[in-house]
Amino acid sequence: MSHVFPRHTKADLPVAVTGEGCYILDRSGKKYFDGSGGAAVSCLGHSDPDVIAAIKAQVDRIAFAHTGFFTSEPAEELADLLIGKAPGNLDRVYFVSGGSEAMEAALKLARQYFLEKGEASRHRVIARRQSYHGNTLGALATGGNQWRREPFAPLMIDTTHIAPCYEYRDRREGETAFDYGQRIANELDAEILRLGPENVMAFVAEPVVGATAGALPPVEGYFKRIREICDNYGVLLILDEVMCGMGRTGTLFACEQDGVAPDILCIAKGLGAGYQPVGAMLCTAAIYEAIETGSGFFQHGHTYIGHPTACAAALAVFRKLTGGVADRVMPMGEKLTTALNNAFGQHPHVGDIRGRGLFRGIEIVEDRASKAPFDPKRGINKALKKAAFEAGLICYPMGGTIDGVRGDHILLAPPFILEDSHVGEITDKLNQAFKAVF
Ligand code: PLP
Repeated sequence: MSHVFPRHTKADLPVAVTGEGCYILDRSGKKYFDGSGGAAVSCLGHSDPDVIAAIKAQVDRIAFAHTGFFTSEPAEELADLLIGKAPGNLDRVYFVSGGSEAMEAALKLARQYFLEKGEASRHRVIARRQSYHGNTLGALATGGNQWRREPFAPLMIDTTHIAPCYEYRDRREGETAFDYGQRIANELDAEILRLGPENVMAFVAEPVVGATAGALPPVEGYFKRIREICDNYGVLLILDEVMCGMGRTGTLFACEQDGVAPDILCIAKGLGAGYQPVGAMLCTAAIYEAIETGSGFFQHGHTYIGHPTACAAALAVFRKLTGGVADRVMPMGEKLTTALNNAFGQHPHVGDIRGRGLFRGIEIVEDRASKAPFDPKRGINKALKKAAFEAGLICYPMGGTIDGVRGDHILLAPPFILEDSHVGEITDKLNQAFKAVF
């Protein structure tokens, strides 16, 4: 009997024993194509020799040194490289162990920034209904995914949620995509006014929505209007690129494609590519200076922040990504999209195929004409996940028609190293899953 506490206590999970490029092998020898990189994590695949060598070399020198006493070479070097590529005025990097930690740090930094500035009333956070920002209490409260929040409602901070930019479902007939984006962004303006601008601390959003909406990109102009609104009221813009960042959408940072830069940016997943648990929060020079010239102490931290081995892994990942691997994302993303459109574009239960780069979503509907989703009780996304897994494909389905999450989605986020033949393998195996479910 196992003593491991799995999340899905009724599931009998296979034991993963080796990783080879885009594949994971279990103890029985079964091979799975990692079509979602776990949850958009394994951007370099599973056995990258350079990242493995960098981890070994760092452990040989020093595995861990507490940030209360030391900084480390890999953390310093990685921060310089990240800031060298980061958009706007982002200037400082705070390394953590994952996405939720990055979001918690972002929320607390935003609050402390306003305290240092003498604007103590600013504490309200606005986010979007279709969003996930992590599972720790602050990050969970920020996310719009109601079924995740509900059991912990008494523990939540008071966050309000506006509409996501969800063109497939919400653009009105006769409305241009641009006008739709402006209309929906203006919900932020109305919400800030409703709460009182002097009370609002931050607006939080994923540039391309991941798990809760299946790789949902914004329309052109949406984020520029959001940036404008935040600036008008002195509200901080926190962008969560935990899933869509680090090259996944075709640019190192997803927001580059929307022509905006945030005040605070969170990354994780692809940062360590799964070789080490690592995330980061980047903030502007202005925010850092408010702390530096104020109390001089960020009132937040964990034992493993700035972990040297995690940073060494992320540094090696960064070098691979910027050394050419990330250049594969756009062309391979186009090939994957064409293949998905050819295979599923006319399927009676496929409503939308969307995304950017190697971050692709398929929205499943009961009826294409009305876009009506399936009854969540049917568990369509879970059935597809199971059938795909049996066929040897790992994909990341989410869904259910509960508040912030409308409909069933399949998320594909394969390693950037995938080859042309893998594209066919993904569609073939997904096709087997569709045939098993529908
Ligand atoms: N933010 C987004 C957009 C995510 O997709 C996730 C995880 O899926 C998180 C935050 C939380 O990251 P982690 O699971 O590493 O804590």
